Amino acid sequence: MTEPFKLEKESYLSIIPWENENSTLTVGFSTKNGGFSQGYFSSLNLGLHVNDSDEDVKKNKEALSTQLQWDTKDWVACEQIHSNNIVKVHAQHKGSGLFNYSSSIKGTDGIYTKKKNILLTLCYADCVPIYFWSEPDEMIGVAHAGWKGTVNEIGKKMIEAWLEEGIKVENIKVAIGPAISSCCYVVNDYVMDKVKQLIGDKPVDSIWSEIETGQYKLHLQRLNEALLLQVGIKKENIIVSSYCTSCNDDLFFSHRRDEGKTGRMLSFIGLKEEQ
Ligand SMILES: [Zn+2]
Repeated sequence: MTEPFKLEKESYLSIIPWENENSTLTVGFSTKNGGFSQGYFSSLNLGLHVNDSDEDVKKNKEALSTQLQWDTKDWVACEQIHSNNIVKVHAQHKGSGLFNYSSSIKGTDGIYTKKKNILLTLCYADCVPIYFWSEPDEMIGVAHAGWKGTVNEIGKKMIEAWLEEGIKVENIKVAIGPAISSCCYVVNDYVMDKVKQLIGDKPVDSIWSEIETGQYKLHLQRLNEALLLQVGIKKENIIVSSYCTSCNDDLFFSHRRDEGKTGRMLSFIGLKEEQ
């Protein structure tokens, strides 16, 4: 597969196959470049909760907003807690968590909406961004899946919420974005026991392998793909980025690589009203 996430400008990658299908769709993932933050957060940190200067984060959000041509007043952000909580976003959520963390949608790692002119955003530094789209229903969503969200099946919870909205599973497309890959992500039995409960205890090369006793390489993106296939998403409707956030130091912040002192990238997805 050719890489679906393409560097459009220095500050973000777009999911090209989706944007090519629908000209009113804006969807992608920010890089760490082209912003105002200093030090560990240099330079396009988009997280308000990491002890960066709020003023710099505000300038960073405004700079990205100009590039994406999405007014910041239409953005929505969350207080993310590595949960599997999903919230349906309405027009009154616009501006939540934009420049003031305490106004974020509380305790939420997955958001979706059918409303136009809302840009759904979530923050990452290695965790997996999962994007959801049903074109016929004009429904969009995004989730934040670290190992906790992944083993607590946040992807499945999003699909279940959409099925309750009357959406057909065969219409749902999923894109799995840049995240720490198995090349750089080692976990212990505590995490692997939970993974094995979901996909069985036989090693699956593309998802996990034991590198020494009790130490495992885990491919969180592929694990999320496997879990979404289990709930009926069609294989041909899933695209997966090959970018590893830890390997690509020139493009991404990485919580593991940078030993916790780092900024946050932003996933974003929004549909505009046709002009
Ligand atoms: Zn890597």
